[in-house]
Order: sequence, then C-alpha cells, then structure tokens
Amino acid sequence: MPTILFAAPSLWPEYRDALPAALAEAGIDATLVTEAAPEMVDYIVYAPSSPLQDFTPYTRTKAVLNLWAGVERITGNPTLTQPLTRMVDPGLTEGMVEWVTGHTLRHHLGMDRHIVNPGHVWDPTCPPLARERPVTILGMGALGSACATALRALNFPVTGWSRTAKPGCLHGQDGLAQALATAQILVTLLPKTPETENLMNADRLALLPQGAVILNPGRGPLIDDNALLAALDAGHIGHATLDVFRVEPLPQGHPFWTHPRVTVTPHIAADTRAITASRVIAENIRRGEAGEPFLHLVDRARGY
Ligand code: NAP
Repeated sequence: MPTILFAAPSLWPEYRDALPAALAEAGIDATLVTEAAPEMVDYIVYAPSSPLQDFTPYTRTKAVLNLWAGVERITGNPTLTQPLTRMVDPGLTEGMVEWVTGHTLRHHLGMDRHIVNPGHVWDPTCPPLARERPVTILGMGALGSACATALRALNFPVTGWSRTAKPGCLHGQDGLAQALATAQILVTLLPKTPETENLMNADRLALLPQGAVILNPGRGPLIDDNALLAALDAGHIGHATLDVFRVEPLPQGHPFWTHPRVTVTPHIAADTRAITASRVIAENIRRGEAGEPFLHLVDRARGY
C-alpha cells in the first residue's frame, strides 16, 4: 500500500476530504498522511509554497505531484531528482477560459465606457463583431488551447503561437512577429522559463497594432513592466489587464495600481479546484502503481 505525503499544509483543509474520495474512486488503497518519515514516502503531493524544499531523503518517492500548473519555483531545485508532474485540472482550465473570455469581451465590446459614464454621454458607436477582432494567444498548451477553443466558438479569429510546430499554430521568431502584428487582443499564457522572461519587451510590444489590449494571466515576468508602462503612456497599447506580477501581492505604490489603462486582478484567473485536481492526482498515483507513464510530466531542462 503506497504512502502519500500531502506536503502542502495550507491546502490540506481543501483536500482532506476531496483526495481520499478521489483515491477511493480510482480504487487506490493508500495511506494518506501530512507527516511521514521521508524514506517511507511513495508520492508527494506538493505546492511550491510548501516548507518541504529538500527532496534528498525521499529515496523511494516515485513522483512529486504538483498542485499548481506553474512549476518555475521548483524546476531549479537541485535536490528534486524524482519525476515531477504539474497540474492540468479541468476545473482550473475552466476558470482560465472564463477569465480570458470575460476580459476579452470587456475590451472587445468597450464595456467600460458604458459602465463608467459620469457625463451620461449618449455614444451610439456599435462595437465590431467578434469575427472582426483578431486575438492572439502566446502559449497554446492546456490553457491557451482551451481559451482558443472558447474564443473561436464566439467567432474571434484566434492566432496561436507555441514553442514547437503544431497544426494551426505559429512558432519561431517569424511566427511570433506574425502573431503579434494582427493581435488586437493579446493573451499571454506561457510558462515562465529563461526563454519566455521579458518576451514582451519594447521591441515586441512595438509589433502590436496601435491600441492593442494585453491580457496577462500567464506570469508577470513574461512582460517587461517598464516597457509596458512606456507603451501604455505613449498610447500604443490601449489597455493591459494583468493577473500576475513579478512580485505578488503587487506592492502598494506600484504604478500598475493607479495607471488609468491598467486593470489589476489579484492572481485569480484560475485556481486549482480540489475535487477535479484530486482526481488528476489519484490517476497519476494509479499510473505509478501500475507502472504506466505519468500524466503531465515536467521536462526540467525545458522548464515547463
Ligand atoms: P502548458 O500546457 O505547459 O503550455 C505551455 C505553452 O507555452 C505550450 O504551448 C508551449 O509550447 C508554450 N511555450 C513554452 N515555452 C515557449 C517558448 N519559449 N516559446 C513559445 N512557446 C512556448 O501550460 P498551461 O497549463 O497552458 O499553463 C500556462 C501557464 O499559465 C502556466 O505555466 C502558469 O504560468 C500560468 N497559469 C496562471 C494561472 C493564473 O491563475 N493566473 C493559473 C494557472 C496557470 P509547446 O506547445 O510547443 O510545448
């Protein structure tokens, strides 16, 4: 019977019932604990905020199962030699699709000018149809591709960009330039890696059409903050809706808080949902016990 160490203490209240239920549903007989002698642990359910940072003594651990989608805070841990999986959770994906679709529609329809209209201005300008509003998504993985499907269902022409070539998706530097050139709304859903840090620098921001809107639910460092502020001030970027930041919580006094064309949401685009995430964890433990390959394995050299 495998021993599962739940090593994300602050999340235990959410998983205390959900994880045993998912393990039972998957037919897994296991011992689920929040403390254990490291040499007895077969699986570690993990969050980067966990106090567990030294994996060296976990000599028989078959996998570290991360509850977060983003793994940039763990991939560099030299003591972590066990297989690492990240979270691809239907509940989390659904949340991201809702956040991206909601903020896309806000900017597409120009809702702000009707919601905040102190002068009671009767401006009957009608927004274009979604089919006339090209959207680009940088990062066409689990989240980006789900957002693309939802936006396409609303008729937005969506261009996707990813690291590797895949059907219907641009890649490479030329592909990026092409993807940015048409993006009236840009969604950044890349992981934070050495390659993606400051990807949206001044030069790349300049490639976007005049007045483009940026939605960043990926990671703060994907965008050069100062370059973004300069592009907003110059009017080249029409608005930025940012969910993620280099420092979180976003420090009081940061110019993003007060910039008239920045919307700050406090890293709430998509949360891992305990019930659906527990099923993903249980399935990976089932696979580990059956000697099958784990789902959502992280390639540490690649960084995601
Ligand atoms: P994923 O499935 O691993 O997808 C990542 C995508 O980014 C893939 O399409 C990948 O290309 C692409 N990519 C990676 N490096 C690239 C590079 N150098 N150049 C071009 N494309 C690159 O990840 P996911 O589950 O969709 O999650 C994406 C990110 O969302 C996470 O890493 C996390 O930072 C963020 N996130 C935020 C929240 C929130 O609440 N704000 C919640 C969850 C996740 P390939 O397809 O070619 O591999």
